[in-house]
Amino acid sequence: MLVPMRVILEAADKEDYAQGAFNVNAVCQAKAVVNVHEMFRSPAILQGADLANGFMGGRADFMNATLEDKKAGAKNIAAAVKKYGEDSPIPVALHLDHGKNLDSCIAAIEGGYTSVMIDGSSLPFEENVELTREVVKYAHARGVSVEGELGVLAGVEDHVFSADSTYTNPLSAVDFFRRTGVDALAISYGTMHGANKGKNAVIRKEIAIAIKECMRHERIEGYLVSHGSSTVPQYIVEEINGLGGELKNAYGIDVNQLIEAAHCGINKINVDTDIRLAVTRNMKELFDKDTALRNSATVGGIYELLEKNKAVFDPRVFLTPIMDTVMYGDVPDMDVARICKCIEDGVKEVVGTLIVKFGSVGRAPKVKMATLEEMAERYKKAGI
Ligand SMILES: [Zn+2]
Repeated sequence: MLVPMRVILEAADKEDYAQGAFNVNAVCQAKAVVNVHEMFRSPAILQGADLANGFMGGRADFMNATLEDKKAGAKNIAAAVKKYGEDSPIPVALHLDHGKNLDSCIAAIEGGYTSVMIDGSSLPFEENVELTREVVKYAHARGVSVEGELGVLAGVEDHVFSADSTYTNPLSAVDFFRRTGVDALAISYGTMHGANKGKNAVIRKEIAIAIKECMRHERIEGYLVSHGSSTVPQYIVEEINGLGGELKNAYGIDVNQLIEAAHCGINKINVDTDIRLAVTRNMKELFDKDTALRNSATVGGIYELLEKNKAVFDPRVFLTPIMDTVMYGDVPDMDVARICKCIEDGVKEVVGTLIVKFGSVGRAPKVKMATLEEMAERYKKAGI
């Protein structure tokens, strides 16, 4: 059943485990994410990034996607998640990752998302509050959950606590929750987006502990999110490079640190890079084993793109020859079916591992299911 993200995070907080949230960029990827969560009887959060919506709207050059492209893409992604999630016994939330502005959030909600993120982290505090508050008003009236962001996820390794620290200030975080009414907040506490987090990235879990403790005192119920939390499994990096890839300095967050953070107030852990890596390796391996496939009329172009972009591990770059498969799930022949299998297997390997590590196995029945209408009623009563 499709649910607002809030009810999934409520269960994670109460039961003291972390909920993984996994990005999807293609119909068969959504299918695999739902399926593997069903297998483990775990609640599921699927995420579409703002640019992923552009890609799913048919823009191979997704960096230049317009609002119209994003609207079309949000519909395609939501249609896929509904197809596999609506009649599923587990709770499934579809969440917009890094929504840029109110328009992006509205496009996602109209497309069928049950949760949105508004990322105002680059704005001054007051403007971030204002923008986030605006999105909360629009979303909560429709029962849709909202995630905000405070603090900057920088690429610098040695942060220090000072006036200009980019880590999230716990006092500001509490203030942000109170003033915006957001359900969840992405914090900056040592993680980083991408596959180059440095060899020894350290999570400052004290920041999460401080925020959560202050929130309890203030009787604010809200949930903390860890972005940039891919683990970048080294065996996959090695395999990609063994197949001719040129990935350098690819390191993630040690999964044990994430497990610890899960018990220190982090309720949701975002993972994207790990899936990209596994899918890329699977495709490289397929073309390595079956050289005849390199000349396939439908998927030969994927091989060419893999060869041309050896330092890249974003499947969106490689999948442009099969956009109807990406957007609508069309599988015109056996060759395309084999690529879909690469994608699905990659998702299951990585997501399955993390469901187990994060502790959400078997927790689906712990989620108090709610429809968007019921949730809207709850917000109305609470006045948020
Ligand atoms: Zn993020």
